[in-house]
Amino acid sequence: MPFPTSFIEDVKLHANIVQVIQEYVPLKKAGRVYKGLCPFHSEKTPSFQVDPDKGFFHCFGCHAGGDVFKFLELHEKVGFQEAIRMLAQKAGLSLPEVSEAGDADDARRDAALREALLKAHEVAASYFSEQLA
Ligand code: ZN
Repeated sequence: MPFPTSFIEDVKLHANIVQVIQEYVPLKKAGRVYKGLCPFHSEKTPSFQVDPDKGFFHCFGCHAGGDVFKFLELHEKVGFQEAIRMLAQKAGLSLPEVSEAGDADDARRDAALREALLKAHEVAASYFSEQLA
């Protein structure tokens, strides 16, 4: 059942992307960003970076990238809603009561929000790549 958009935004605000990813990938601070070995492809030199200011991760090797939700989706192989649930738990947020009514509307809004989030991160990721090029 889809979570309300306001809740997703709340989870995103509370989730510390560096902390979340560090549970899976050892990260080292390198200036403004954190670097580590990419969990999505095999490598010996770190090309996986996490930008805490922009709230996204990006791998220059395999081009995996996205926000904290996307990381969990890719790493845990779960869907968007499950990634939200996992993050909410990590952040200690209680899950909202989701009413039966208006689910279709919520689902549409969530799909739209998600698209907007991913779009924003694509833009941010390419900006990030340019900065480091
Ligand atoms: Zn990679």
